[in-house]
Amino acid sequence: MGYVRVAYRKIFEELDSNDSMPKGWDKFVEKQAEYQNLIIRSSKNKCHCTNCNHDFISKKKVGEEAKCPNCHNKYLVKRSNLRWYEFKDYLSILDYINDTFVIRYFELKSTIGPTHKHSYSVAEFGREIPTRNSYYQNVYVNGRVSRTQRHIYIYHGNGWYINDKKWRQYMRNYSLIDYSIVFPNNLKQVLKNTQYKYSCLWDITKHCSYIDLSDLIGNKSDYQINRIELLAKMKLYNLALREKEFRNKGSFKDIFGVSKDFYPFMKNHNITYVQLKILRLLQEKNMSKIKYLQKFVGYGEDTGILEEIAGYIGLNRFYKYAKMHHGRVDKYMYRDYLGFAKALGLDLKNNRYAFPKNLREEHDKLEAQYEIQSEKIIQDGIKKRGKELSNYKYQDKMFVIMPACSLKALQNESKQQNNCVRTYAERYAKGKCDIYFMRTIDKPKKSLVTVEVKNNRVVQSRIKCNRDPNEEQLKFLTNWEQKVLKGAA
Ligand SMILES: [Zn+2]
Repeated sequence: MGYVRVAYRKIFEELDSNDSMPKGWDKFVEKQAEYQNLIIRSSKNKCHCTNCNHDFISKKKVGEEAKCPNCHNKYLVKRSNLRWYEFKDYLSILDYINDTFVIRYFELKSTIGPTHKHSYSVAEFGREIPTRNSYYQNVYVNGRVSRTQRHIYIYHGNGWYINDKKWRQYMRNYSLIDYSIVFPNNLKQVLKNTQYKYSCLWDITKHCSYIDLSDLIGNKSDYQINRIELLAKMKLYNLALREKEFRNKGSFKDIFGVSKDFYPFMKNHNITYVQLKILRLLQEKNMSKIKYLQKFVGYGEDTGILEEIAGYIGLNRFYKYAKMHHGRVDKYMYRDYLGFAKALGLDLKNNRYAFPKNLREEHDKLEAQYEIQSEKIIQDGIKKRGKELSNYKYQDKMFVIMPACSLKALQNESKQQNNCVRTYAERYAKGKCDIYFMRTIDKPKKSLVTVEVKNNRVVQSRIKCNRDPNEEQLKFLTNWEQKVLKGAA
């Protein structure tokens, strides 16, 4: 438990024996800490910037972002009665020692206390040897990481009880760290004798804030690294992080799913993958619209609902509709509404139908209409099919078999037999399967065997409660299949 392999221990010892950090690190940390500030708002719109200690007047409300006129940074606005505020970010450094990549993880923590003074500290707490195996993580933590608490707590102090040079394997079953802000300055140097020497990772890390570095370094084939380089050289840095989504070859349109005249727009905004997916649907160079529509993207960057909505009315009109309702549109309900409206033949080009004022009300109305109509569609369909299949009616001295000729008959059969043939109604009506009832000559109203036929073959025959028919009954069905159904084929 917690054992560190000798080869890795040597790497860690080498890192620990060298106290100097790579050139530019302090500046990098300071820059990141600068983001960890607030605007403190007291009465009469008086504001105070915790970064540069400048006081100014602003009408921005608590919870909004305000820009400090002195340092020009944007920060969250908080109330002046604030007691304590803490920011935490993970920073990382990539190193290459004894032909092995090692990632060093640091926590950057800023605190803003009751006097509204900003202070920060940075502490190394984790190391990772990236592997190609996604089930096994080579992750190690030092004495700064608490052993007891359920969440990760990292001590920043330097007390005698903290040994930040004592490393143990991280054994919890959730990942220690996924995304971090990667220190870019040393990357070119570190990667120069590796397969990543042309990858342009140093440019990517400069332009993207949170990166899964262990995935980027540990899991890539040469082919993938090639693709990363290609995307980075196009200055599509955020897309380079999602290299798996793109092919190497083909036209711009083949690779990105949009025409080439979108390229300058994509580059200027360093477009992310989910933003590109929206752009494909929107086909408009408008980042504020795209960002607005991002609110409607589901878990795991799922744009499926937006795609469906775009299929009905176009994404631009959905944007308009969402704006009209101040963004409070239930996307699932709206998608269903559009589906009902289309099935009922309403003209969705007309805003009267595409933009319902009260979505829930209109949705329920159309759903009810659709139910009635669909029931009628099914009823009519079954009647028609019953007539078509009546040619295959057959009987001997004992049994008779006939097609289901109405929805009611199907429901009745299902009730008597205690089976689920009722759910076959829609498929039967649409001609996707044939349903027959087999009964005895003397009791033709009483259910006996329910039979499903596909391509002129009996695929299912069931007596009450989904049990199989007896031999005599099966013999009748075989005869019918041979004499009538096959003859029709
Ligand atoms: Zn400021």
